[in-house]
Amino acid sequence: MKMKRLTLAGLFLMAGLAAQNLSAQTSCCSGKLRTASEGIYDLTALYQKIDSVVVADKNQAAPLIGITSQYESPISTGIGNAYIEAVKKAGGIPVIIPKTDDPTITARYIDKLDGLLLAGGEDIHPFFYGADPDPKLGEVCIDRDFAELALIHLALRKGLPIMGICRGMQLMNVALGGTLLQDIPSAGYTVQHNQNMNKSIPVHEIHIEAGSRMAEVTGASTMQVNSTHHQCVKDVAPGLKVVAYSNDKVPEALEGFPKYNVITVQFHPEGLCTHNPSALKLLQDLVRRAVEYRDDKK
Ligand code: MN
Repeated sequence: MKMKRLTLAGLFLMAGLAAQNLSAQTSCCSGKLRTASEGIYDLTALYQKIDSVVVADKNQAAPLIGITSQYESPISTGIGNAYIEAVKKAGGIPVIIPKTDDPTITARYIDKLDGLLLAGGEDIHPFFYGADPDPKLGEVCIDRDFAELALIHLALRKGLPIMGICRGMQLMNVALGGTLLQDIPSAGYTVQHNQNMNKSIPVHEIHIEAGSRMAEVTGASTMQVNSTHHQCVKDVAPGLKVVAYSNDKVPEALEGFPKYNVITVQFHPEGLCTHNPSALKLLQDLVRRAVEYRDDKK
């Protein structure tokens, strides 16, 4: 992971140096940017291409989907590229939201966004649902919890469409007054919910409630899903209902319709959506709700 970041940083540095060289050439030589035949970067072609883009009318443009991110360290904020690619594949424009404790920044995000995707990540501090920490509680980032609970608070108030994934589902439940089971294996469940293989590989089955929005959107009554969680929803918050379970009865999806514009899943559709149509349909549903929200806001 660290190697990758260094490599990426190196690439940006190289690109920056190349750009400096190009601007030096532009100002002191021919006044023209180098073309691909003369150098590595064909900026002329790039600028022509970007200048020819017509930004669609606001009402026809792809909606802005905010994606929450992980505060990794004082020098790094991260989000899996799968989330970014999945939002694009579903027809939305991804906007990465860093954690903040500034309410004006939070409010501005919620004002500008058309939809909110609560991404996966650390465990949630049990303080928020009135429990002591279990010995098996994993890593927690209380600043991220605060930042995302603020986002959820404003988003719910405005009816901004929300999709929660993994931690996002758990946080939504906590935000509305529900509780969590802090460690699934310790509680005697029989299915492995924290897979030791790539997230693109499904590992267990879920059963989707007939008549739910999830059933309507996916057109499915069962799904094979991936699973990278060791916690799950315990007491379901008022206003939410469980609409999918695993075979060992772990809640795998929650919905809040019509009271809340919310659907959350315990699995990772962003890891499945390149090859599982039902997973892609869930993400497309967020984008569709985001377009409806934006059109209603006019
Ligand atoms: Mn699971």
